[in-house]
Amino acid sequence: MQGSHQQSQQHDVIIVGGGMVGAALAARLGNAGKSVGLIEQGDAPAPPEGDYDLRISSLNARSLAFINASGTQLPEERSCPFRHIDVANQDGTGHSLFSAADSDMDDFGVFVENRTLQYALWQRLAVLPGVTCYTQCAPISTLASGDMRLVELDNGKTLSAPLVVGADGARSTLRELAGISVTHYDYHQRAMIINVETELPQQDVSWQVFTPTGPIAMLPLPGQRASLVWYDSDDATKAREQLDDDALKAAIEEAFPKRLGKLTRVVARASFPIKRQHAKRYIGKRLALIGDAAHVVHPLAGQGLNIGLHDADTLAELIIHGRDPGDHINLHRFEVQRRLANQAMIAATDSFHHLFTGARPMRQLGDLSLHIAERIPFAKRIMMQQANGLNPFKRR
Ligand SMILES: Cc1cc2nc3c(=O)[nH]c(=O)nc-3n(C[C@H](O)[C@H](O)[C@H](O)COP(=O)(O)OP(=O)(O)OC[C@H]3O[C@@H](n4cnc5c(N)ncnc54)[C@H](O)[C@@H]3O)c2cc1C
Repeated sequence: MQGSHQQSQQHDVIIVGGGMVGAALAARLGNAGKSVGLIEQGDAPAPPEGDYDLRISSLNARSLAFINASGTQLPEERSCPFRHIDVANQDGTGHSLFSAADSDMDDFGVFVENRTLQYALWQRLAVLPGVTCYTQCAPISTLASGDMRLVELDNGKTLSAPLVVGADGARSTLRELAGISVTHYDYHQRAMIINVETELPQQDVSWQVFTPTGPIAMLPLPGQRASLVWYDSDDATKAREQLDDDALKAAIEEAFPKRLGKLTRVVARASFPIKRQHAKRYIGKRLALIGDAAHVVHPLAGQGLNIGLHDADTLAELIIHGRDPGDHINLHRFEVQRRLANQAMIAATDSFHHLFTGARPMRQLGDLSLHIAERIPFAKRIMMQQANGLNPFKRR
């Protein structure tokens, strides 16, 4: 690496990756008066308009609180709150309805397009004086030197900070440059996302039905719109992708529960491979990984982005209240807290997958777990609060 940190642009924290997780951390730190350099390989996001985008995420209570703490406003007209989560299996032998009111909450959170959230965060970054966004560039090398870490960019610039954070997604360059390896698992499943318009207005309930080949789910969007998620084997999904809109509409009306009603339009569709990945370490010398750079979980519980934002929340609190952002003790605390929580989420989503998509005896166990959740309110309450990123044993 060429420059020393005397010749480099200095910040309190450098964040690589301006996706939802990286931008949220930058906004939270910038809002607390920190100097942040945000490196994004793409352009600043464009304003969302027109039809709803395919990439939709649920944001739970803790994630929403974190986004609020950064001073970011989510546009209400493109967000859809949900108050109930309905989980069942296809043959009707297991069913559980989770309601926010049972946990003294107004709602479980909101569904929002990924691009709407990312745009709102970048709008906030644009008015925070401590935040500098370096777009269309990426790191090519990084080196810890004394109490700083240097990052050399492919546009010739060098930045330095006491802490560099990798929020550059599942194929993180920063993770690779730091020599951190991952464990990896392929579910041999794809999720086909289909945005539709419906005859019926969608309500404040998100539902998921487990079938032997994978779950099918409906995420409500504002008005008469919904985002459908159809998990299936690679081959079945690829065959379904060849269908024209009318044939796909017919296939959905046949496979999905009648409560969806008739479809008036297939707006957009795409499919994504389902994989799990976990970094062997979240930290290095004056370096931390957050979001998908640290972990990728099965999306069936809608928690991947949420746990990424919880990483950012935990790290932000340690940075804001500590003296040195990259202090080893702080980073060690971050790793311990977040690895435990993320490992638990990976185990939970993994067991959901194997319980409901596996062979018949496993599926019977899955049915039993839904019965337990439905019949024991205390168990249900704990499950709901954990899914919301809240501590179920803390008094509110
Ligand atoms: C089908 C599906 C459905 C999902 N549904 C949900 C849901 O309902 N709820 C939920 O919580 N999660 C959900 N997830 C997971 C969620 O989408 C991810 O966890 C989330 O997008 C991760 O955000 P991130 O910011 O960590 O990474 P990313 O979104 O991958 O962002 C990484 C950013 O870094 C930039 N970048 C990459 N490399 C470099 C580089 N070398 N230099 C500079 N910049 C770089 C990229 O351009 C990008 O802007 C779902 C995932 C899938 C596949």
